[in-house]
Amino acid sequence: MKNYVIIGNGAAAVGAIEGIRSVDKDGGITVVSEEKHHVYSRPLISYLLEGKTDETKMLYRPADFYEKNGAEVLFGEKAVKIDPEAKKVTLESGKELCYDSLCIATGSSPFVPPIEGLETVKNRRSFMTLDDAEALESALTPEYSVLIIGAGLIGLKCAEGILNRCKKITVCDLAPRVLSSILDSDCAAIMQAHLEKLGIEFLLDDTAVKFEENRAVMKSGKVVDFDFLVTAVGVRANSSLIKDCGGEVDRGIVVDERMATSIKDIFAAGDCSETTDITSGIKKVMAIMPLAYIGGHCAGVNMAGGEETLCNALPMNSIGFAGLHCMSAGSYEGELYEEKTEGGVKRLYTENNLLKGFMIIGDIDRAGIYTALIRNKTPLDSLNFELLKKSPSLAPFGREYRVEKLGGEV
Ligand SMILES: Cc1cc2nc3c(=O)[nH]c(=O)nc-3n(C[C@H](O)[C@H](O)[C@H](O)COP(=O)(O)OP(=O)(O)OC[C@H]3O[C@@H](n4cnc5c(N)ncnc54)[C@H](O)[C@@H]3O)c2cc1C
Repeated sequence: MKNYVIIGNGAAAVGAIEGIRSVDKDGGITVVSEEKHHVYSRPLISYLLEGKTDETKMLYRPADFYEKNGAEVLFGEKAVKIDPEAKKVTLESGKELCYDSLCIATGSSPFVPPIEGLETVKNRRSFMTLDDAEALESALTPEYSVLIIGAGLIGLKCAEGILNRCKKITVCDLAPRVLSSILDSDCAAIMQAHLEKLGIEFLLDDTAVKFEENRAVMKSGKVVDFDFLVTAVGVRANSSLIKDCGGEVDRGIVVDERMATSIKDIFAAGDCSETTDITSGIKKVMAIMPLAYIGGHCAGVNMAGGEETLCNALPMNSIGFAGLHCMSAGSYEGELYEEKTEGGVKRLYTENNLLKGFMIIGDIDRAGIYTALIRNKTPLDSLNFELLKKSPSLAPFGREYRVEKLGGEV
């Protein structure tokens, strides 16, 4: 009987467990989980603050998931060392776990910028975990002013989550626009205006350079007083375990199409790893939940001796902030088609008869069809793209394509 060890307990770990079990029903699975919670859906932590969900509804898999899959979870345990020769993982508690096949699914950690005086700020937190959300929930009062450093996805999700829990929210970012890694300046301006209407104040092209307890001195010279500080400037892949034992690491753990690392019998998946973006051919960390699960599943199948590859990954995001949705996927290069919509904009990028990427603010209904076109590398002249540009639906696909891709008489 094979012994599987999975380090981490997020979407990638769930994928790995289900991948292993699709091939091997009997092997022993041990999951090392630094967090003490049953696996939950990380993107829902802001909804918890908003009161739109609770811990039970946030579960990513039902309460009996581990038991049903014959997996033992070591909650509150941290893996600190891998010995690939002895095929052994050492935990902080001193416990040792032997493996035949190992999956690193450690996700990422918030990067906390080394700003002068940060240690003088008592009320501060990142916004990555259920514990962070719960800490904010119990700390905030309706009189509080909150300063969020970082206007990326995590900073804005935090702002949305606490909108009705405090008096004032200020979000600052060194970048000149919000969501700078996924939106261009026009789309970002629409989102910023929407959030400003809700009362969130932005200080862009500006950031805190010094803290004096509850006061931030900004690069611009402005001074911002706050009661609570959230740092959300970015994340770093948790790749040190494999780096320390000689495995190949770039911005994330380097894996092949089977999610195998450069060390025999060690796989990696999720936010800690790099996968190839099919729209650019570049290997990158694509920190999105569906990819974490799919990568984990692929790793699990291969760990158990099956065959699976992951070769259609692409960066994509679909998020909403207080009622305004935005969706983007692929890369933004090639010919641009732009359409202004009510309160939003749609941008499609085409190159060499292929849809390479898109960015939509506002009506994202059926935009998944664009994602499918990118992922399947569908030649645009094989369908009525003129119609599809204006209104994503299945009609512009020929009947043959619909039957082949979707099955049945559609
Ligand atoms: C606020 C927020 C909003 C988001 N919104 C979206 C969204 O709308 N859509 C989307 O697709 N994605 C979103 N994401 C990203 C998404 O949550 C991640 O891509 C996904 O959770 C990655 O899964 P993972 O399993 O790779 O890592 P994680 O979910 O981070 O799980 C890794 C786990 O490993 C544990 N761990 C780390 N090191 C060790 C160790 N040495 N020993 C033991 N355990 C360890 C960690 O504690 C953690 O529990 C959001 C993220 C955040 C924070």
